[in-house]
Amino acid sequence: MSSSDRPLLIALTGGIGCGKTTVLNEFRKLGIPCFVADEVAGGYYQDPAFLQQIRALFGDSVMMADGDKLQADKKAIAQIVFSDPDALRRLNALIHPRVWDDFLRFVRANAAAPYVIFETAIAYEYGFDRLVDRVVCVYLEEEERLRRLEQRDHATREQLLARMRNQLSAEEKMMRADYVVLNYEGNPRTRQVLHIHRQLMFES
Ligand code: ADP
Repeated sequence: MSSSDRPLLIALTGGIGCGKTTVLNEFRKLGIPCFVADEVAGGYYQDPAFLQQIRALFGDSVMMADGDKLQADKKAIAQIVFSDPDALRRLNALIHPRVWDDFLRFVRANAAAPYVIFETAIAYEYGFDRLVDRVVCVYLEEEERLRRLEQRDHATREQLLARMRNQLSAEEKMMRADYVVLNYEGNPRTRQVLHIHRQLMFES
């Protein structure tokens, strides 16, 4: 697809707890088709062919029986990839190309839209930024993200910090993005999204 006969491809990113989902919902309200990479990837774990690929990668120790259905133990997989960057790379190589293919199908199904959003926490870490036309980053400082996540995920500070350290810093993401939404409490988020929306409508 050339850029003239398809919607603009927009990545929406930001560190965990910055408010990506909340901002994405603002774009949804404006009628923009939104694709949530994590949600789509989560669905792969229902696919027997994908489960066999997971088994081939990580062995039987990450598989559980669920009646006569095979299931992957996502916690066991998370533990492995958390401490083994090579295993994480192999898991990513299995999931992300498939996510991107599914996204392109989603774009074709929404070919009349001015732009389409691909929401992912790891736009830069995995190089999705180079596949899209523009990146929108939601920014919130770490302390406030920790506070929100402690409430949302009931995780400890240490667990949350470990997850954050696995990603590029929020500041770096913000510096590299084409558009930034500052998601401080009380900041007019709707207005910022509307402003970006108007610019993207103009560019498309
Ligand atoms: P992400 O998808 O980036 O992990 P979420 O959109 O789930 O982040 O937001 C993280 C938490 O912060 C949620 O509990 C959400 O309700 C809350 N939140 C998001 N934006 C704001 C805001 N502007 N003011 C107060 N709380 C917010």
